[in-house]
Amino acid sequence: MLNLLFGIGLSMVLVPGLASSTNPAAAEAMKAPHLQPVYHVPLRIHLGQSGRPLAEWPPVLAEINHIWLSQDAICFEIHTVDHDEELGHGLDLWFTSFIPQWNGYYRDPNDMHVRDEPDLRPALRPAESAAARTAAHEIGHALGLGHRQDSDDNLMRSKTYGWQLHPAEIKQARQAAPHFALEKTSGSCGPPAMHNRL
Ligand SMILES: [Zn+2]
Repeated sequence: MLNLLFGIGLSMVLVPGLASSTNPAAAEAMKAPHLQPVYHVPLRIHLGQSGRPLAEWPPVLAEINHIWLSQDAICFEIHTVDHDEELGHGLDLWFTSFIPQWNGYYRDPNDMHVRDEPDLRPALRPAESAAARTAAHEIGHALGLGHRQDSDDNLMRSKTYGWQLHPAEIKQARQAAPHFALEKTSGSCGPPAMHNRL
């Protein structure tokens, strides 16, 4: 799967929208060029409660990074685990087969939960994966953002496929990111490190 993703031509970078969202190399190329530095924030993805096959997750996780790297120059250093132990420094997010009533929820930066298959309303410029969009939304809360309900295209709109950040949100999240970030501010934004061989 990853080989296939990496095989997507660089021309995809020029395609607007999310055509390249599942290609980590393209996501790197599309990072917000005007924002410096790139913050690298560790993100542990817990998959022990997920019902989706492991092979489905790399493109979903890459899209989380696309959403944040391309708009806000924040790269999540993602690794997956099959247990519930929290990361010491960084963010923790669980994908879960079922959450009663909710697509996902945020309690604190080390307690974010998202359903495997969230049920979202359409947006004009939709994210590809409902799970990626909802995870990126909960991460927005971890970075200090509240809801913004004035457009279905907003990342911080409730329950839509929107993934756009507004200038004030970009600024606010970048003020919060250093609290979680690694010291390094250079280097590539690589693909997620999966806990098991695919
Ligand atoms: Zn929310």
